[in-house]
Amino acid sequence: MAVDLARTAEGGSRSEYQEARRLEAVHTLDILDTPNEEPYDRIVRLVRAIFRVDIAFIAIIDAHRQWYKAISGMEGEEAPLNETFCLHTLNKNEMMVIPDASKDPVFSNNPFVAGKTNIRFYAGVPLKTRKGFAVGTLCAIDRKPRAFSDEDVQVLQDLADIVVDQMELRIRARTDELTGILSRGAFQHESERIAALAQRHRHDLSAICFDLDHFKQVNDTLGHAAGDQVLKAVVKAVTPRMRKSDLFARVGGEEFTILLPETGRQGAMEVAEKLRRDIASLRLEFNGKPMRVTASFGIAGFAVAANDLETLLANADAALYRAKHAGRNRCEAWGGEKIPVKAARRRVLKTGKISFNYGSSSIDCTVRTLGEQGAGLSLISTVDVPNEFRLLIPSDGFDASCKVTSRTRTHLEVEFR
Ligand code: GH3
Ligand code: MG
Ligand code: MG
Repeated sequence: MAVDLARTAEGGSRSEYQEARRLEAVHTLDILDTPNEEPYDRIVRLVRAIFRVDIAFIAIIDAHRQWYKAISGMEGEEAPLNETFCLHTLNKNEMMVIPDASKDPVFSNNPFVAGKTNIRFYAGVPLKTRKGFAVGTLCAIDRKPRAFSDEDVQVLQDLADIVVDQMELRIRARTDELTGILSRGAFQHESERIAALAQRHRHDLSAICFDLDHFKQVNDTLGHAAGDQVLKAVVKAVTPRMRKSDLFARVGGEEFTILLPETGRQGAMEVAEKLRRDIASLRLEFNGKPMRVTASFGIAGFAVAANDLETLLANADAALYRAKHAGRNRCEAWGGEKIPVKAARRRVLKTGKISFNYGSSSIDCTVRTLGEQGAGLSLISTVDVPNEFRLLIPSDGFDASCKVTSRTRTHLEVEFR
């Protein structure tokens, strides 16, 4: 079944434009698919304890699902949006309290009410950023009907505000808490300044992006604590290679960017190759078990006349994407004949529709990467998606025929034809 996020619970219409901006706000927080973190787990525990409810969670909502940043009292990582109470909370854009869902005309047939989760009580608050975008919800849920007083409403709202503060402070922090290097926000700020200087003085400037290989496996097999230790060890190993004037930032969970002033592409390539070897030769140990890690690198140089910072970083990112596809644990430079322009992809967060059977079937997805020649799509399940379909991105008026080039349970990589 299709989810129409642009439709409100009352049947009115939230504009595609509004939804696109909301997704940009989610994108900026850079929180989707990140591991558990204590500040959020703590709030979820508090919600259960204060209200004495069976279930509590913090959900972040993208184009096709609600994904749980923290959850207690229920199993699961995500749920398709069309079935969720939270879609209604998001659309109302204010707290929604359902004392007994089995008696509620909208929710009595909901699978979470009629099915084995057996929900009766629901209270959900939208998590609104400073700019007013609802990026998700904080929820208290119970299997018995119950009342929710004005005081309860206030307490849940305060807890939701703490969740949002936590997410926004993290973005504004100058240094990354885990590794001590620059945060993504600080990098964005300082890199602009460095690029402007390079442009004014016609100095060389280059960028290196790197991403740890198969890092999900490290977390899945050894746990997040081990993953965190690996991240710290990698940063510690490569930091001595940096010059004082270089900017070294953690721009995503296991993704890093280095900006090298007064360094050309060739120089950056040499640095990257050293870093790659440093990382691959790390001897790590976790609870007595040895472990190894590698990373893939993308390098790009700044053409003063033609480039801007965004292009420089996008080119390095495209080169990194190439390095991944060429087998990982390697460095690839943008601009060599080896990298056609078509590999360039931007990371985005947009509402997509997968359309097939001559338009009679459609599945909602979240567009995660987008380039001239292809895209990366996330969805609840790829099982029913054929190898060829049309991809629509309504907010951009985008419509293209696609062919699937790789497929996992929840992700598709496609090429446009
Ligand atoms: P690839 O080689 O294609 O990069 O594979 P991958 O598994 O590294 O890629 P993917 O981007 O799918 O997964 C990244 C994983 O990194 C997801 C998450 O489990 C993990 N991760 C992200 N941030 C953190 C963090 O702060 N700590 C830990 N321990 N893991 C993190
Ligand atoms: Mg990654
Ligand atoms: Mg990775």
